[in-house]
Amino acid sequence: MVTALDTLHRVFGYEAFRGEQAEIIDHVVGGGDAIVLMPTGGGKSLCYQIPSLVREGTGVVISPLIALMQDQVDALAALGVRAAFLNSTQSPAERASVEQQYLSGELDVLYLAPERLTMPATADFLDRGKIALFAIDEAHCVSQWGHDFRPDYLALSMLHERWPSIPRIALTATATEQTHAEIAKRLRLGDARHFVSSFDRPNIQYRIVPKDQPQKQLLEFLRTEHPGDAGIVYCLSRASVEKTAEFLTENGIPALPYHAGLPAPVRAANQARFLRDEGTIMVATIAFGMGIDKPDVRFVAHLDLPKSVEGYYQETGRAGRDGLPSTAWLAYGLQDVVQQRRMIDQSEGDAAHRRRLTAHLDAMLALCETVECRRQQLLAYFGEKADACGNCDTCLTPAESWDGTVPAQKLLSTVVRLKRERGQKFGAGHLIDILLGRQTPRVDQYRHDDLATFGIGGELSEPEWRGVARQLLAQGLLAVNSDGYGTLVLTDDSAAVLSGERAVRFRREPERSARRPGNRTKSGVSKPGSLSPEALPVFEALREWRASAAKEQGVPAYVVFHDATLRELAERRPVSHEQLSTITGVGEVKRERYGDEILGLLAAQSDVDTPRSTAGSAESIHHLRERSDDPLSME
Ligand code: ADP
Ligand code: ZN
Repeated sequence: MVTALDTLHRVFGYEAFRGEQAEIIDHVVGGGDAIVLMPTGGGKSLCYQIPSLVREGTGVVISPLIALMQDQVDALAALGVRAAFLNSTQSPAERASVEQQYLSGELDVLYLAPERLTMPATADFLDRGKIALFAIDEAHCVSQWGHDFRPDYLALSMLHERWPSIPRIALTATATEQTHAEIAKRLRLGDARHFVSSFDRPNIQYRIVPKDQPQKQLLEFLRTEHPGDAGIVYCLSRASVEKTAEFLTENGIPALPYHAGLPAPVRAANQARFLRDEGTIMVATIAFGMGIDKPDVRFVAHLDLPKSVEGYYQETGRAGRDGLPSTAWLAYGLQDVVQQRRMIDQSEGDAAHRRRLTAHLDAMLALCETVECRRQQLLAYFGEKADACGNCDTCLTPAESWDGTVPAQKLLSTVVRLKRERGQKFGAGHLIDILLGRQTPRVDQYRHDDLATFGIGGELSEPEWRGVARQLLAQGLLAVNSDGYGTLVLTDDSAAVLSGERAVRFRREPERSARRPGNRTKSGVSKPGSLSPEALPVFEALREWRASAAKEQGVPAYVVFHDATLRELAERRPVSHEQLSTITGVGEVKRERYGDEILGLLAAQSDVDTPRSTAGSAESIHHLRERSDDPLSME
């Protein structure tokens, strides 16, 4: 019998299972149901792909992402796995051919959208073949409270009734207790075994910076830290998506827009280019990203505050699936808080709904304003305990907290005075003008230079005052009026600060934001992890080779090989097929297909950088030939 470990080595070219993969696969191969909570990049796919290969019949994978099915199938086909999909983008003839393959037992994996599976004709059709298992990918789509809710997922409870003896595995990268419970309940997975992994993503560096001039800050971040890298930039509105994509393009950085307001063909084309080109940046609303399994997304940047920690973690989790160093960067400012609070006030739904939105926002704000390790706080949100990580901005450049009680009182009492005189119609900018004693036209108009607090705030700069206002808002000591003008008002808790009963502490922004340690090559191309100087040119040559191989076949570069594989090839420089097969990510099919080309390329590279001291290049070429003729001559 083919074992799971065999399959891991032979098909996928991997050495060992990661985390709980072995147990999950064992359980499903044995016919058990499973709920798998694992972070993005944790290796969920293998948990259903290997059982699909090991068990008799076809693994039926339910995925909401029709646009990505082709890529998923291509990636499996490149490994020699017999995979196909059925969806509405196919012609009747194409569908008929896939159906035929399934019925004659020629498919290992079959992808279906949920709406198709729940059609009676599909269920009858599946019954005429042999089903190895059902995998329900992105299982959090069943949660009505989450932002990815798909009504069709609710109908998947029928799997249990119709095929009680076929194992089901539900997988998601959403970690909250509530989603977890909903998956179990709505998919009727009451008897399933639960596998909950740590949600830590140690290769992602989390950083949150004060927002000042967001576009300029983004440009600086990209130029200094991620030149030539692929990444995602999230913006709140469609308009800012388009503006930002234009701005980057004007500045010589290849960027594409993506939001729900664009015509479907444009969205599809931009998504395909992002997946296929190396070093393209996607500027998008949160409509983009679910199911994107591009492994080499090197950064995720947020130009606006996400609405919840859950959403933020999902979005940033799309960086660094390949395990190589990546950055999650968020620029956050006073205006974000004002805007989000206002959006909640104006949102439809009842008071309970607004309270829920507020709780989500407050957790996100607490993350932004913490002086503790960001990762610790993130993981705590998901109920996980962790030590300070050493790879987030607060760990790298510790932020101090300071006693801000007096400035808080000054600001709050300005709010009180404005209220008395003018019925609270002034935003943060005007408050700060008053505190700094600025004689602006508005100050003149309303004679606010007569206020007792006029000019009493000279101890702080304008950005510092903005920080005070922002943090008072974040802490619920100041609120945004629902008048639609962003007017600031007191809250029930403000009085205790004004009377001196309650002290207030603020985060002091570090002078300079933390940077990831020098990880760049001169050409600006990212150098993954700790590649040695000798391996670097080889890695670049392999990347070039990969780009042309991918282009020839019309698939994304990562379908040929992941960066991690190229990196290992460059470091270890195998000289035989046997050595090749020990490289991570080189399975049987890929070795047969590309092995000779790669060995040739590596040999040529050795030739290029062999020290020329022997001058007689004939000699070194001879030496090389010997090496590549005899697979075992090295080591
Ligand atoms: P997820 O679906 O959980 O986000 P994937 O299944 O896409 O994660 O896996 C993330 C990356 O890790 C992929 O590049 C995958 O090939 C790789 N991977 C998964 N399992 C292993 C393993 N046991 N050994 C080496 N690489 C693995
Ligand atoms: Zn940390």
